[in-house]
Amino acid sequence: MNALTFGDLSARAMRLAILCRSCGRLRYVRSTYPETAVVSDLAKTMQCVRCRSEDVELIGMERDRKSGFWPAEAG
Ligand SMILES: [Zn+2]
Repeated sequence: MNALTFGDLSARAMRLAILCRSCGRLRYVRSTYPETAVVSDLAKTMQCVRCRSEDVELIGMERDRKSGFWPAEAG
């Protein structure tokens, strides 16, 4: 399976979010990255702004199909 890139996210109309596995904080990432950048590679360079954990995951978020809303941020 090919690694997910930022180009894939925009092609699928997805937004990038960062989830902290340590404290559960979920925030949308507003920075933009090159289309060829690999999402999982970038996650290794990031940390949670609240608890400073480096155990974070980047997720491609999709709009809710029923409501049309983006999932809420948490934490
Ligand atoms: Zn955290």
